[in-house]
Amino acid sequence: MSVSSALKLFTGSCHCGLVAYSLKIDLAHPKAVKCNCTICLKRGYLTYHTSPAHEFTLVKGKDALKDYQFASHNVHHTFCGTCGVACFFRSGSWTGGGGQEMTSVNLLTIDAGQGLDLTKFKITYFNGANGWEGGGKDTPWPGGQF
Ligand SMILES: [Zn+2]
Repeated sequence: MSVSSALKLFTGSCHCGLVAYSLKIDLAHPKAVKCNCTICLKRGYLTYHTSPAHEFTLVKGKDALKDYQFASHNVHHTFCGTCGVACFFRSGSWTGGGGQEMTSVNLLTIDAGQGLDLTKFKITYFNGANGWEGGGKDTPWPGGQF
C-alpha cells in the first residue's frame, strides 16, 4: 500500500467546538511523538507532525485561536481562547518543513467516533527536557511523561 492510499481524512476540534480542523493521517505507518519538554509535558501533547501530504486544514476558529510563544519564539503554540484546548502548534524551524511553516497536531484532539485507534500508533519519545539529547527512542525518557 502506498503512503498516499493509506492517508485517511479525520476531523478534530477543541472542547467547545470553536476551533475545528481536518487532516489526513497515514494509517499504514501510524506514528506519534511524545516529548518531555516544558510545553509538551504541561499540555500533554501526543504529537503528529504533518507534511503537505497530510493536507492539514483549519476548518474554523482562526479568530478563536490564541498564540502562545516562549523561549526562541519560533513555535506558535496555538490554543482555543475559550476552552483552552491546544489542537496544534506551528513551526518553521524544526518540524521538517525546511523553512516552510508546518503544523503539528495534538492527536488527542481528533474527534471521537471516526475509528482512529491511538493504541496502534508507534510512539517515539524525545528528551526535550534535556535539550533533545539522544534523539528519539521507543521508551519514555527518565523523568519524562508516562
Ligand atoms: Zn474551544
